[in-house]
This record gives sequence, C-alpha cells and structure tokens, in this order.
Amino acid sequence: MSETIANLIFKEDLPTIAEIEARYPKRQLKEGAIVTRVAPSPTGFMHVGTLYAAMIPERLAHQSEGVFILRIEDTDKKRELEGAAELISSSLLHYDINFDEGVVNENKEIGEYGPYTQSFREKIYKAYIKELVIKGHAYPCFCSEDEISENVRIQNLHKITPGYYGKWAKCRTLTENEIIENINAGKPFVIRYKSQGDKNKKIRVVDVIKGKIDFPEYNLDIVIMKSDGIPTYHFAHLIDDRLMGTTLVLRGDEWLSSLPLHIQLFELMGWEAPQYGHIAPIQKLDEGNKRKLSKRKDPEANVTYYDEQGYPKDAVIEYLLNLANSNFEDWRKENPLTPNKEFKLDLGKLNVSGALFDFQKLDNIAKNVVGTYGAEKLFDEGLNWAKKYDEELANLMSENSEYVKDIFRIERENTDKVRKDIAKWSDIKNEILYFFDNQFNPNYEILSSYEKQDIKNIVNDFIVGFDMDDDKQTWFEKIKVLTDKNGFCSNMKEFKKNKEAYKGSVADVTKIIRILLTGREQSPDIHSIMQVMGKERTVSRLSKF
Ligand code: GLU
Repeated sequence: MSETIANLIFKEDLPTIAEIEARYPKRQLKEGAIVTRVAPSPTGFMHVGTLYAAMIPERLAHQSEGVFILRIEDTDKKRELEGAAELISSSLLHYDINFDEGVVNENKEIGEYGPYTQSFREKIYKAYIKELVIKGHAYPCFCSEDEISENVRIQNLHKITPGYYGKWAKCRTLTENEIIENINAGKPFVIRYKSQGDKNKKIRVVDVIKGKIDFPEYNLDIVIMKSDGIPTYHFAHLIDDRLMGTTLVLRGDEWLSSLPLHIQLFELMGWEAPQYGHIAPIQKLDEGNKRKLSKRKDPEANVTYYDEQGYPKDAVIEYLLNLANSNFEDWRKENPLTPNKEFKLDLGKLNVSGALFDFQKLDNIAKNVVGTYGAEKLFDEGLNWAKKYDEELANLMSENSEYVKDIFRIERENTDKVRKDIAKWSDIKNEILYFFDNQFNPNYEILSSYEKQDIKNIVNDFIVGFDMDDDKQTWFEKIKVLTDKNGFCSNMKEFKKNKEAYKGSVADVTKIIRILLTGREQSPDIHSIMQVMGKERTVSRLSKF
C-alpha cells in the first residue's frame, strides 16, 4: 500500500520508528535476568486471580535480579474506571508485590520505559501501524458490523470457518483509489493486519507452563486499530513488550489461543518474541464441579475480602504461593521463620489445569503465619484491623490493652507448641471476649451430665486450695487431690480399667472447671487463663454456679 494512504489515515505528527527505538534502549541486565510484567485492565475490581498472576512474575523477576513491571492496559475504553489503576497498584503494594516500573496512580508512574498506561502510548502504536500500512502488512477495512455478521452467517450456513480472512476479507483487495474515496467520504474504518498464515500449516509454540503445543497457523485478519484510533490488545502488547524489553509474558490462559497470532506478529516485525506462559485461573469446587472463581458469586474472588476478614497479608501471599507451588508447604515446615520472599518459585511446578481454592487450607496457612507473631505484634495488627472494621473490638482492645496482650501471651510466648487458633483478625473476638465479665454468658447446659452437688463440692474444694502463686504442677496436684476426694479418679489408667467405680476422671473435673471459667469445652490451658484473669475473677466465675 502507498505512503499516500498511510498519510491520509495518520494525519497527526507521529514519532519515527528510529526515534521511538532510541527512547527504549536495550536493558543492561545480568545474564538470565527476567523482565516481566502484569498487565491488567483497569476494571475497578481487584480479583484475587490478578494478585496471583502478579505475584508469580514478581517473584520470578526478583529471584533472577530482573525487572517487574505493572502496565495498565486500558485500550478497552468502555471498561476504564476512575481510580481503577490505583486500586491495582495499591493492592499489589499492600501485598508487598513491588513493581520496579509502572503505574502508581493516574498521575504517577515510575520507570524509564513508560508510559506504562497504554492510552498514553497511542502515538507509538500509530507510528508502527503506519509503518505496517506503508509496507502493505496492514490495511483499512470499511466493513460495517452488519456486513461482518452477514459474512459470518453465510460462512456458518456453508459450514466454513467463520471470520475475516482470505476471500472473505473484502477490504484486502480494495484499490488505492477506493480507499482514498472511502476515507475522503468520512467512512469509519479499522486497520486490520493482513495475515500470511495458512490454516493448513502447523506452528509449534512452547509455553513455559503448558509445554509444547501445535496450533494451525493464524490466518484471520484481526483488527489491530479500532475506528477510534486505539489499538487492540494484540497489537498494543506486541509493541509494549518489545519496547519494554519483556523477556517473559505470563498471562491468563484465555490468551493461549492467540499465541500463534502473537508469535506471527513478532516475526512480521522481525523481533525476537518473548517467552510466553499461560496461567490457568484459580478454580473452586461448586457442588462437585470445578469452575472459575467468580467475581459475581464468590466474595473471596475480591482481594478486599481478605482485608475485611483480617487475613494477614503474609498469610494471603503464602496461600497463593502454595497454590502456585505445592512444595511451598514443605519448604515452610523446614524454614518456619524465613521470609517467604526467599522461597524459590518454580514455573515448572505450576498446576497446568488450575489451582483449586480451599478455605480450610487458607485458614491453616494463616494460623501458622499468625502463630509466628508474638503477643505484641498480634495485638498491634489486630487493633489496626479492628479500628477499620470492628469499632467495638477496637475500643475493647485499646481500653484493656495490657489484659488483652496477656490473653494473647497464653500459649504463645515461652512455649514450644504455639497456639494456632487465630487465622484472621476477625477471629480475635471469639478468643478474647469470654475473658470479659460483661461478655461472659456461659451456658451451663453442657454440665448437665454431672450432679449439681458434685460440681459444687469440686468448686468449693478448688477455691479453698486456690493460690495464685501455685505453679502449674502444684496447681494440678491440688486438682488431683480434690478429684479423688470427691469420688472421681485422678489416675487415668486406673479409671479406664474400672470406670463404674468412679463418678468420672480428672479429665471430667478439669472439664467442669474449664466450663465454669470460660463457658466453653475447649480453651487454652486453664492454669494460664486463671493467671491472666486473676484470683477475684476466677473465684467469682467458679462460685457463680
Ligand atoms: N490486559 C490483558 C488482560 O487483562 C493482559 C494480558 C497480558 O498480560 O498480556 O487479560
């Protein structure tokens, strides 16, 4: 096609290719350094899948001393929303997914290879598209949507692969005069890539996650520039990843079928294509069937959910690491206190067909993460969360900070076996409220299998012997004594042999005391709880029965 047409299409001043290439010099990085990116569209919703798809390249880039970029792909103008880019960048930063270059917010970018928002790169794309038009690799297409649908209708009728290609690509064969006439008449047009692909030939692509795949060559004349002058994703990503020096493109596997096209486009430009890897979406089991985590149906699809629930950010990241590489769990066991950034993520271990979301696993991982926090950190993080999401809890914690910290210390400090009962900050309430008398509403029903008089006698004996200075062993010896005195059995072996001879065992006696003290059948160590509650509260709770 001629320069006349290209000049007619692109009337504005555009940079030359040489100028552009000079602005984006080759990066000087050490051998093997990965330059990669996450390139979400600003939809105003931060999906946990985006966090997952950002964490993986971020780890790979930084493990290899490479570069991680956050690029905002806003060429689909309909979907753009104010503040949407900032939502993405702030979510990544919140989870310590640090990008070296990219969009911080609508007004701020970092890095030398920008702009990192596609809509600011319009002239760059146009310069390359113009070049393709001049060389005859792209052409304007004036077909209306109706004409295109009619094409498809006829193709379907004749059982021919639908699409704009070969002889169906009417505008491929327009003469220069026809084109000029159409443009001068103000007919809207898009620019299409003139594919040289042959559907009967195969192209072998290598996906770094999915392995070797054979595809038919891509033969559709896809749109590379829309009628509003904005390029489509296919074209914009080609230019961006070339100019930004991307060596590895990781993206959702909905793009896998476009891979032959993308490789073809890189070849057309005479550029070396980056490596590609396609990540399967996070799935969940729904009535026995696997499906993608859905923004509409699943609250856990939204990244804000984890914050609202109060999952520590490390817990979320460790959960996602575990979804990506199931050997993370073993690594964590061997390295309980090592920062998770030191875990070497391996693309080869990614689940090809999609990791399955599992709340129980998330909670277990989170409990282990919280288990590494001391009382002070637990208190600070919990209070920060409560200030945002639970005012009542925040007040309770602030007004009773020392008492609450003492509660948190139980089985958390000076112990080999740390208590793992908190997965998220919203669990805190359940763990501390019963320590406060105005929140303590025990249900004595659970004691109905014991004789009232026996309970009273046990309590009386306990109170008589109770001394706050007793260490755990002395304290327990006293319980054993009152156990035997009241017709229960302090020796479990003996009790098992001869159950009928006793009203119960020492386990029943501690259960009775536990329930009176805490209102629950399960709690942390009672001796420690009494130490924290103090004598008065302990005695008053026991004698209430
Ligand atoms: N904007 C594309 C998406 O959100 C990005 C694909 C890519 O990473 O290249 O799916």
